[in-house]
Amino acid sequence: MTKVSLRLLILACLGIALAACGGSDQTQTESEAATSRSESSSDVSAADAEAREVVIQANDQMKFSIEQFAVSPGERIRLVLDNVGSMPKFSMGHNVVILDQGVDPQKFVDDAIMAAANDYLPPGSEDQIIAHTKLLGGGEKDTIVFTAPKTEGEYVFLCSFPGHYQLGMKGTMLVQ
Ligand code: ZN
Repeated sequence: MTKVSLRLLILACLGIALAACGGSDQTQTESEAATSRSESSSDVSAADAEAREVVIQANDQMKFSIEQFAVSPGERIRLVLDNVGSMPKFSMGHNVVILDQGVDPQKFVDDAIMAAANDYLPPGSEDQIIAHTKLLGGGEKDTIVFTAPKTEGEYVFLCSFPGHYQLGMKGTMLVQ
């Protein structure tokens, strides 16, 4: 897909999302942003200092720096998403969303297109998500701590910004 057509796709998606909000979109978007900022990173506590760190970089070329990482069942993981790009969040935002087994990634990102006000996480999708970072613009970083699932196997992680999964922003968390 060319850069121009991608941009048009994104603009179209934003248009749909704003229309869906029906007018009060601007205020809502800002308060949503404030909310997600305040709950950011859920302050890494001392108890989590021993969590093992996994760093994933994302860039303006819509690529993650790793395609796979392995964890042990029930292991505490500190996941750092480092957006090393420079483009703003509204046009080139990145997150890491780790999906539970059995969740269809394509359907998840299809639903996410309409969820701009929720940082592209489909409303009501909490039980489909093992863990997720904030949506980040260029130069931003987010750290989350979570417990790996007890069930061994492969778990998809992806960026839920419209179009990015299709362009390859995805990978596998291997629980073994
Ligand atoms: Zn992305």
